[in-house]
Amino acid sequence: MSDQQDFDLIVIGAGSGGVRLARMSAQRGARVAVVESRYLGGTCVNVGCVPKKLFVYGAHVHDELEDAAGYGWQVPLDDVSFDWPKLVANKNAEIERLNGIYGRLLENAGVTIVEGTASLTDANTVVVGDTSYRAKHITIATGSWPVIPDVPGKECILTSNEMFYLPQLPKQAVVWGGGYIAVEFAGILAGLGVDTTLLYRGDLFLRGFDGDIRRFTEQEMRKKGVNLQFGVTIESVEAENAHYRVQLNNGETLETGLVMAATGRRALVDGLGLTDLGVQLSASGHVVVDDHFQTAVPSITALGDVIGTPQLTPVALAQGMVLSRRLFGDGKGEMDYSAIPTAVFCQPNIGTVGLTEEEAREAGHRLRIYRSEFRPMKYTLSGRDERSLMKLVVDDETDRVLGAHMVGPDAGEITQGLAVAIKAGATKAQFDSTLGIHPTSAEEFVTMREPVA
Ligand code: NDP
Repeated sequence: MSDQQDFDLIVIGAGSGGVRLARMSAQRGARVAVVESRYLGGTCVNVGCVPKKLFVYGAHVHDELEDAAGYGWQVPLDDVSFDWPKLVANKNAEIERLNGIYGRLLENAGVTIVEGTASLTDANTVVVGDTSYRAKHITIATGSWPVIPDVPGKECILTSNEMFYLPQLPKQAVVWGGGYIAVEFAGILAGLGVDTTLLYRGDLFLRGFDGDIRRFTEQEMRKKGVNLQFGVTIESVEAENAHYRVQLNNGETLETGLVMAATGRRALVDGLGLTDLGVQLSASGHVVVDDHFQTAVPSITALGDVIGTPQLTPVALAQGMVLSRRLFGDGKGEMDYSAIPTAVFCQPNIGTVGLTEEEAREAGHRLRIYRSEFRPMKYTLSGRDERSLMKLVVDDETDRVLGAHMVGPDAGEITQGLAVAIKAGATKAQFDSTLGIHPTSAEEFVTMREPVA
């Protein structure tokens, strides 16, 4: 074992939360090291949010080409070709650029980057290869990893990790799951011309989202040609060269060129040695922490996907800032998990913030529901058969807007602004007194006057 180095803080995992914590802490004067075994930037930058959004842009180009004719552009659609390896290569170059930026951000803040796999030998010691590092504080920020259900043939099922580096696009694909990643990848694949089937075990995908949003998204995705099958799951997969036979629990068999599981993500704690030190894991495998990211071991904290809070980059970033302030700032700061805005980049996009109608009713609110469904202006000339939905959930007693939900182009962009209003406790009357920006889709959110329920 080579020389021991001492730090105030060692962060294990250079993803969104870990990097933010490390940088903020170093800027506060702490001596900080980050240990990373794979890639700087974590899931978000390398195999998540960023490359996914680039693929979503790529998949949407076909719609743009089709829509061009209505605006007078003659695009020979029969003659259009798509080069998947080119998209992947360009995406890879962009991710490498971002990896470099993350490295420089850390170095410029004075953070020591240690490449390798970490394990903890005691409450203040991290070992990477032959070197041990000691620190007053250790933070576990190792994130999460895709889970594939235990079915025969699971070894030939891909996850989002591999999808980002797929050498060739198949003609047909099966996506298994009904959450964020499943609907996003189904949209990407279908947009790129792959005959895509999504299999979901429940009655309707996107569990936890507002019911109207789920039903509307189903309708729009079906219109885009995605074969949605609900109430069905995979029993086994057999592979023969690049061909897969998928056995379903309803007795049917699907033949396809790719099977991707998007069936959730587990906390990534393998090999860290946490439980030996007294750190507790929950039944779902997440690191158990209190409201201040403290594990059962005083020197060990944890944040991000690994602690089981919403698996979203902005959540991890905010946690990193709170924890840094608590460890090396004035010792204050709390996380606020209310009204987290989020977008699902399926096609069309979903944007959502605040309570769903179901959650609000469950919480005992008497509600007014405002809903608007329309064809976006852009599609009037192009003739595209795609509609948008906007919905406000309003507490009838206080007039407070409890939730805003949308399916349609730029839903994420629109929802971000609404999130400020909802966080600030805006009432429906304040929405009504806000003038619209005309002509936009977003103005519907301030012009819905008659409740539908
Ligand atoms: P989710 O938890 O969102 O969805 C998992 C899906 O898989 C659910 O539909 C679930 O069904 C289904 N499922 C789980 N286990 C099984 C099983 N054994 N057999 C069949 N189906 C199963 O996970 P994802 O993997 O889609 O995404 C992980 C997280 O990453 C998300 O929750 C989100 O926080 C984050 N993310 C965010 C994005 C964004 O902000 N745009 C994009 C991508 C990911 P059921 O509903 O019945 O439980």
